[in-house]
Amino acid sequence: MDFELSAEQREIQALTRDFAEREIEPHAADWDRNHTFPREVFTQLAELGLMGTCVPEAYGGAGTDFLSYVLVLEELSRADAGVGVTVAVHTSAVTLPILTFGTDEQRSRFVPPLARGEHLGAFALTEPEAGSDAGALRTRAEPDGDGWRITGNKQWITNGRHSGTFLVFTRTDSSTAGARGVTAFILDADQVQVTRDEEKLGLNSSVTNDIAIDGAYVERDRLLHEEGRGFRVAMQTLDGGRIGIAAQAVGIAQAAYDVALAYARERRTFGKAIGEHQAIQAKLADMSMEIDAARLLVHRAAWLKDRGEPVTEAGAKAKLFASEMARRQTAEAIQILGGYGYTKEFPVERYYRDAKITEIYEGTSEIQRIVIARAILGLQAAASRT
Ligand SMILES: Cc1cc2nc3c(=O)[nH]c(=O)nc-3n(C[C@H](O)[C@H](O)[C@H](O)COP(=O)(O)OP(=O)(O)OC[C@H]3O[C@@H](n4cnc5c(N)ncnc54)[C@H](O)[C@@H]3O)c2cc1C
Repeated sequence: MDFELSAEQREIQALTRDFAEREIEPHAADWDRNHTFPREVFTQLAELGLMGTCVPEAYGGAGTDFLSYVLVLEELSRADAGVGVTVAVHTSAVTLPILTFGTDEQRSRFVPPLARGEHLGAFALTEPEAGSDAGALRTRAEPDGDGWRITGNKQWITNGRHSGTFLVFTRTDSSTAGARGVTAFILDADQVQVTRDEEKLGLNSSVTNDIAIDGAYVERDRLLHEEGRGFRVAMQTLDGGRIGIAAQAVGIAQAAYDVALAYARERRTFGKAIGEHQAIQAKLADMSMEIDAARLLVHRAAWLKDRGEPVTEAGAKAKLFASEMARRQTAEAIQILGGYGYTKEFPVERYYRDAKITEIYEGTSEIQRIVIARAILGLQAAASRT
């Protein structure tokens, strides 16, 4: 067993940290307050190869392993969780499934522009009545000549307004319910209308959109994987994506810990630094321990993925623990800062708002517990996001 990162992994971690500290973190409070989507940051990240970190060089990526990619997500999210999720969805939920399930032609056509950051990707699974129960989706793809016509509405689609490539999950067989009859297609931006910008509790530098698809025509070259096997694409994509969201949660918690630790050394009450009070020491000790534990779960899941081993259980454990930890520990960071923690003078209130979403998207905590329980009991997954 080797807990040390390789020289390459340390290099990409340092490169991302340096960029994030210079170009992201100083603006994060403003982007949050003004709901700014920092489009230019993704161009800069692309120049560093970070819009396709773990994508093979032959397809325009940086060609690293998956663990390096989660290190990138942690560092980006430590500076700004909105930037973190934009890159996470773009990479793990769009670029990687096209690489995994696409034909040679689809890989060469769709992956390089994504990996080079020429446009962003969006993953469109959720609908107004199909969230955790993704198999209830109703967007239809009806046969038409050599192809299909797609019609439906998707909800809460990250990157929607800024995406050039959409991975859209539809129902090609209306006689079946649940997972069977779901088919994935690759659509362009001009086949999708953005109908709404969601206002959120946090993650304000990312965009979350409702989209409508109104009879968009696609031929077989847009079908990802096999007709009727789209649910497998979605579930396998989320298995990997969850490791990225877990890394995002670790990044947010680390940022909160950094601020809390510095504050505990500076702030004085009753003649001493608050870090000398046992109650504050216990909070810092728990924070540090839980961040370590979450990070280890994330790295183990990424390591398994790099070895080509199943990650359903390990990814769900990493996401469940890291996201709940981030919610708990960002709240503790506010507590350590007292009144200042509740104000916008310090970033910990933002970390707290941003941390909450990690317990919801790419499968809620309740769903992660079901995934883990099924794995340990050897039960089969049903037709849901689980
Ligand atoms: C900011 C943001 C960004 C998002 N980005 C994307 C995106 O890019 N693409 C995309 O497709 N989706 C996206 N989503 C959607 C997200 O994945 C869903 O919100 C999530 O999967 C939960 O679905 P839901 O909100 O419909 O909750 P519901 O499924 O309605 O669940 C409501 C509650 O019931 C619980 N619950 C549901 N079923 C069970 C069960 N079987 N057992 C126990 N408890 C259960 C849930 O855990 C939850 O607590 C995003 C959402 C948000 C808020």
